[in-house]
Amino acid sequence: MAKQKNKKYIFVVGGVMSSVGKGVASSSIGKIIQSKGYRVTNIKCDMYVNIDAGTIRPAEHGEVFVGEDGVEADQDLGNYERFTNQISTHDNYITTGQVYQEVIRRERNLEYDGEDVEVVPDVPKEIIRRIESCQKKNDAEVVITEFGGTVGEYQVLLFLEAARMMKLKSPKDVFFVLVSYLPTPALLGEQKSKPTQYAIRTLNSAGIMPDFVFCRADEPAAENIKRTISMVCSLPISRIVSSPNVASIYDVPVVYEQEHLGRELMKTLGLKARRSNIQDWIAFSRKIQKLDKKVKIGIVGKYFNFKSCRDTYISVIESINHAAWYNDRAPEIIWLDSEKYEHNPGELKELSELNGIIVPGGFGKRGTEGMIMAAKYARENKIPYFGLCLGMQIATIEFARNVAGCQGANSEEMDPGTKHPVIHIMEEQKKFMAKGNYGATMRLGAYNCNLVKGSKAFNAYGQEKISERHRHRYEFNNNYREVLEKAGLKVVGVNPEKNLVEIVELANHPFYIGTQFHPEFKSRPMNPHPLFREFIAAAVKQSKK
Ligand code: GLN
Repeated sequence: MAKQKNKKYIFVVGGVMSSVGKGVASSSIGKIIQSKGYRVTNIKCDMYVNIDAGTIRPAEHGEVFVGEDGVEADQDLGNYERFTNQISTHDNYITTGQVYQEVIRRERNLEYDGEDVEVVPDVPKEIIRRIESCQKKNDAEVVITEFGGTVGEYQVLLFLEAARMMKLKSPKDVFFVLVSYLPTPALLGEQKSKPTQYAIRTLNSAGIMPDFVFCRADEPAAENIKRTISMVCSLPISRIVSSPNVASIYDVPVVYEQEHLGRELMKTLGLKARRSNIQDWIAFSRKIQKLDKKVKIGIVGKYFNFKSCRDTYISVIESINHAAWYNDRAPEIIWLDSEKYEHNPGELKELSELNGIIVPGGFGKRGTEGMIMAAKYARENKIPYFGLCLGMQIATIEFARNVAGCQGANSEEMDPGTKHPVIHIMEEQKKFMAKGNYGATMRLGAYNCNLVKGSKAFNAYGQEKISERHRHRYEFNNNYREVLEKAGLKVVGVNPEKNLVEIVELANHPFYIGTQFHPEFKSRPMNPHPLFREFIAAAVKQSKK
């Protein structure tokens, strides 16, 4: 198939308010264009000065998504991967911090030939360079770039300026999607378009006309509202796209297709559809809507804020969803704050109501004793248990203390002076910690792992060699391997290069597995991660007991 000569760039910007689903909109655009036979790549631009998301608190800013090459990125990259199955790397993630850091580095190296370096155009130029470089590295025909935040925010200006400059250079290759919000005030009971009109005007003042306006709202956009918006931005009504709330994010491309977004995108971008195969996605969306039997999974964690835990644990939640749907179940996820078990161990009883327990990733001592109590409960009561990174370390500590007789066993992270450091700091981490060098210094990204034949993990994957993504500083202490294995903890996955323990499991248990890596980053809606798939299968069996 001949490749599209002119690369196309779509910029997705937000209007009215944040958190209306620009990430899912960008992912869905990617999915739809891909379904027409074009190679796509998605980029997220975050406005903050941080170099990456690695040092940001997850309870407030959401999960840190880890790419194959170890990029610690915004959670939106997770949705891009789940929708388009394109692997994200450092190139797909741009922050204000990275851009300024590079401009200043170049200035210090005399790379501006003695010119003064200006915020405009030198900063937007660096943004453009990064976007184009991502296009090349991914060999993408269409690049979808999402800007965090909303138009009108001071920090978005330089990114909008970069996009405007690109449009000026190639008017037929650069396009804008405004993802806006239509409020329905309770008193009036009808949708209002005025905030969206202001957002369009604000975008205009940056020299940009939207090519599409997506109307996020509780309900589909009313016809008269579409008409008003189409008039305000001189667009045909077919490019004002209704985007109501839906039961699952995976319904979004289907809703867009009902609005003929694929056809409109092809027309607007000047592309011819090479094929059209969104049918599997539509069938999938139908299937998941119909499931009514439940599987009840508890997440015993600690990054809970008062509103929702969805953002903090999004990849874990999505992996549970994918695996539950595969097993013909509707997932029911229960949030359990581990600290409450420390104050009131009687509350552990509530775990008996669950079909499966997950202890996800985490950092620092707070809440870990409660997690250890939950792991013990799951082990003793034969409730399926799946430990992800910290959850694997928790399972190891629990087993060491309560089965292998290593009293007071712990991770050096929680108790640096522990008598039995069954989890200890990785050798190469010591120098980073001595210097307080926290940014992007963990063991990050994809590493190999060899599985032990006959183990539950091996049977789930159906192969001996796997590769999974990591984000940690501490590891299983090999000095304890013999003691723990003698007591019955099975080491079933090992990194061949460094002999690091990657997976532990228990034999006489329906499902008790801990992974040092984060399997949740590689689960896909129609292709669940093998370990999640088997964990949920065990949970479904549990539910029938
Ligand atoms: N805090 C643990 C470590 O650094 C676990 C990290 C995680 O769960 N991602 O090793």
